[in-house]
Amino acid sequence: MTLDAKIPAGPLAEKWSKHKFNLKLVNPANKRKYDVIVVGTGLAGGAAAASLAELGYNVKAFCFQDSPRRAHSIAAQGGINAAKNYQNDGDSVYRLFYDTIKGGDYRAREGNVYRLAEVSVNIIDQCVAQGVPFAREYGGLLDNRSFGGSQVSRTFYARGTNRAAAFIRRLLRIKPPDTSWQS
Ligand SMILES: Cc1cc2nc3c(=O)[nH]c(=O)nc-3n(C[C@H](O)[C@H](O)[C@H](O)COP(=O)(O)OP(=O)(O)OC[C@H]3O[C@@H](n4cnc5c(N)ncnc54)[C@H](O)[C@@H]3O)c2cc1C
Repeated sequence: MTLDAKIPAGPLAEKWSKHKFNLKLVNPANKRKYDVIVVGTGLAGGAAAASLAELGYNVKAFCFQDSPRRAHSIAAQGGINAAKNYQNDGDSVYRLFYDTIKGGDYRAREGNVYRLAEVSVNIIDQCVAQGVPFAREYGGLLDNRSFGGSQVSRTFYARGTNRAAAFIRRLLRIKPPDTSWQS
């Protein structure tokens, strides 16, 4: 069997941005004519479903648990790394790329990891817009911490234990579970 990740050709830093630019756009008026099936309702599927629906596509999201809130994503608790360099401690897209490749024992696909580092900056903004309750400093700015052995503080995190579940619920517009019977 051949494993083909179909990573676009070209220089490392341009592979995905060039590929994306070369894709044909869908006319906004035609988006509602497309049904998109998203399999999985963890953070990846949930965010994809919400983003596609926001763009105007008809989205159907599926999972195999009894509730989307049971996706493995609710276990995540450390936070999301992004090269925003809010702390002015020397972070950059290239440094996040380098740290991620090294952290993955040089086994990850470099083109995809570069893209991850590149879009990490926008993903935080997207998450905030979609309702992720990231921890904030007293003045209201997003807080960062150093996590996973990195020398810069680039981790955006949430305080509390059940934030990922709340995010998935919010993405997929699920009503919170009825716990009134417990009291
Ligand atoms: C304890 C713990 C802590 C972690 N901490 C962090 C952290 O701090 N930061 C970080 O970035 N990452 C962290 N991770 C990793 C992170 O949680 C996962 O990489 C991420 O949540 C995966 O998200 P996902 O949406 O791809 O998959 P999942 O959340 O696993 O969702 C998979 C979805 O696919 C569905 N599915 C699967 N098979 C089928 C099928 N056959 N038919 C239909 N649906 C199907 C499932 O129902 C589910 O909805 C942590 C992981 C764990 C376990």
